[in-house]
Amino acid sequence: MPYGISYAGAESDYDSADAFILGIPYDRTSSFKSGAREAPFHIRRASYNFEEIHFEHGLDLPVPNVFDQGNCEDFFFPEDMMDEVKFFMRPAIKDKKFTIAIGGEHSINIPIIQCFEKDVALITIDAHLDSRDDYLGTPYSHACVTRRAAEHLGIENVFSVGVRAISREELERDDVIPHITSFEIKEKGIDWAIGKALDSVKSEHVYLSLDIDGIDPAFAPGTGTPEPFGLDPMDVKKAMNAIGDRLIGFDVTEVCPPADPSGITSVLAARCVNEALAIHAKSLR
Ligand code: MN
Ligand code: MN
Repeated sequence: MPYGISYAGAESDYDSADAFILGIPYDRTSSFKSGAREAPFHIRRASYNFEEIHFEHGLDLPVPNVFDQGNCEDFFFPEDMMDEVKFFMRPAIKDKKFTIAIGGEHSINIPIIQCFEKDVALITIDAHLDSRDDYLGTPYSHACVTRRAAEHLGIENVFSVGVRAISREELERDDVIPHITSFEIKEKGIDWAIGKALDSVKSEHVYLSLDIDGIDPAFAPGTGTPEPFGLDPMDVKKAMNAIGDRLIGFDVTEVCPPADPSGITSVLAARCVNEALAIHAKSLR
């Protein structure tokens, strides 16, 4: 790959790959702390921390075959970032690869979802509802992710889990993005929450977008807009596995290495990428 190290175990060429990884070092719409553009490097480096197989999934080979495309360029305008992401993602999705994107801020999800036909649902794990029409002068801000997805996939195919920060303008409208708060999850459990999300969305295929700030800042402190009272990492693992065979793509966003001196947030992000790969590997059997 052209830029720095590739993801651990990503030794496949494109044609024989089951899974396709793209790093998107973009953070120009960040509203609080920027630095997510450094995350693809740190998450890839953290990936070397782990065993290549996951015994709890009954996997005994390093699978699936993974191709790492490297990073796209770091653009200034979101429109330029979106063009570049689509350039790489559209063929991979068309070729039925399991796509993994490593952000970057959450806005990198917007062009990925637009690459799909309308036969997929977006579930986000996020502290924020991200459903503004526009924010700080752009409709492609990281605060507009679920709104753009709802326009493309239909609001019945979007669901946010773990939310605990919603603005008045997002709540006081007729088309509020369906969501479950972290407070409800604390009361009723993650199994209930992800079950409700999976029942709610209409498409069989699910794309999961993990904004790392959905996890409590005690576990994921290195993020641009930390929000207390979040999920614990095991909740995220359980949610991913509940999606199981329905999962067709994954991204992890909003890791901010300058705010993560211990590197623990990048480690957690890489472990979630591995979890997605393991879930896909099981679906291939
Ligand atoms: Mn977000
Ligand atoms: Mn967020």
